[in-house]
Amino acid sequence: MATTIIEPFRIKSVEPLRFTTKAQRAGILAQAFYNPFLIHADDVLIDLLTDSGTSAMSSRQWAAMMEGDESYAGSRSFYRFEAAVKKITGMQHIIPTHQGRASEKILFTITGGKGKSFLSNTLFDTTRANIEFSGAEGIDLLTETGKLPSVRAPFKGNIDLDLLEKTIIEKGPTQIAMCIITVTNNSGGGQPVSTENIRKASSICKKYGVAFFIDACRFAENCYFIKQREEGYAAKTMIEIVNELFSYADGCTMSAKKDAFANIGGFLALNDDVLTRECRNLLVITEGFPTYGGLAGRDLEAIAVGLEEIMDEHYLKYRIRSMEYIGEKLEAAGVPFVKPVGGHAVYLDAKAFLPHIPLHQYPGLALSNALYIEGGIRSVEIGSLMFGKYAVDGTLVPAQMELVRLAVPRRVYTQSHIDYVAEIIIDVFKKRQELKGYEIVYEAPLLRHFTAKLKPVG
Ligand SMILES: *Cc1c(COP(=O)(O)O)cnc(C)c1O
Repeated sequence: MATTIIEPFRIKSVEPLRFTTKAQRAGILAQAFYNPFLIHADDVLIDLLTDSGTSAMSSRQWAAMMEGDESYAGSRSFYRFEAAVKKITGMQHIIPTHQGRASEKILFTITGGKGKSFLSNTLFDTTRANIEFSGAEGIDLLTETGKLPSVRAPFKGNIDLDLLEKTIIEKGPTQIAMCIITVTNNSGGGQPVSTENIRKASSICKKYGVAFFIDACRFAENCYFIKQREEGYAAKTMIEIVNELFSYADGCTMSAKKDAFANIGGFLALNDDVLTRECRNLLVITEGFPTYGGLAGRDLEAIAVGLEEIMDEHYLKYRIRSMEYIGEKLEAAGVPFVKPVGGHAVYLDAKAFLPHIPLHQYPGLALSNALYIEGGIRSVEIGSLMFGKYAVDGTLVPAQMELVRLAVPRRVYTQSHIDYVAEIIIDVFKKRQELKGYEIVYEAPLLRHFTAKLKPVG
């Protein structure tokens, strides 16, 4: 019997790749101030910078876009979108936004502010930035195993429940704006959170009257991991698992650029009537009328169809398996990475990969840049360039981990692209001793990794 898990789609429209030489790439990188975010996408061969908004849409999605109703108010496409989101989340009120961070900005402007704390397994970068921008603080309470890249465990995205309760008591429940669990845990290796962990975290929050939210960007990948790994879930359908997950939450934020196969879009789903009214009031100032929220009718259609397609178990099986496949190749070559591989990305452990580069010289960036020069692959540093802070004396307070994320766009690359990526990583691993660190020459006050300019050390 054939055991190969095949791409569960065929290709109708293709985009040619543009090849460059290694010497050209070295020049391109220098011109981009050694920051992969500043490279022109045309100069990238395999773009694994992000899985956000980079999905290949299906023929059904494109067809639905032609059906988009562009009415300003009460668009048919909104009601289709609303029904699709309600089916997944079971929430009462659905607010469309132009992407995930717009949902965060609205929600945190109302619930955040000076003196407030947001508790999480791990806050994503834009989530943390929006919390801090409101004047509040974000506190990550990931379980200890989640912080150990080389330790295999089924649910390394779980929040530490004891620490959650302790922190609520310490800060005082009225000072906690909410607990927000990221599924899967993007900044912590794309690791899933178990249903049990969500249920228990939710009941701790309920006990103290603290709101419980889900950052739902990769809810389907997370729930597929639950089906595979959590006891009692193997026989459940995806929709049952997904509905249970959301049943523990008071609301969620979502980027439709992830598990909804859309190129743009997001939403905020809520149960509370008063909070919803306040969010909609802000929405009309910043995003648009409540039935389009910063999106065109056609975008709402693409999201509605995408939310159906993401629940297909053939797709999810292929998705998770293709990620494991890279992991197996790297494992065989001894490359250090976060184990097991995540749902949407492989996270190389730059600290273990480049132990000779000190943290204040950003080993993650050094590795990411080497992958670009060696093979034209774009990845992203998730380490001290993204999350580092400065102590009062100006020294770097490093991030918890120094990771390089290779995020795989949905339905875009084939197995031979993935084979090529693994080969390049292994080539770089063989000459890792030659790699050097970087220093920052310019940085912005918030989300500095997007626009920072750097230069090689020495
Ligand atoms: C992408 C992402 C966001 C922000 O969504 P955008 O659509 O990029 O604004 C928030 N949280 C997580 C976990 C994400 O992956």
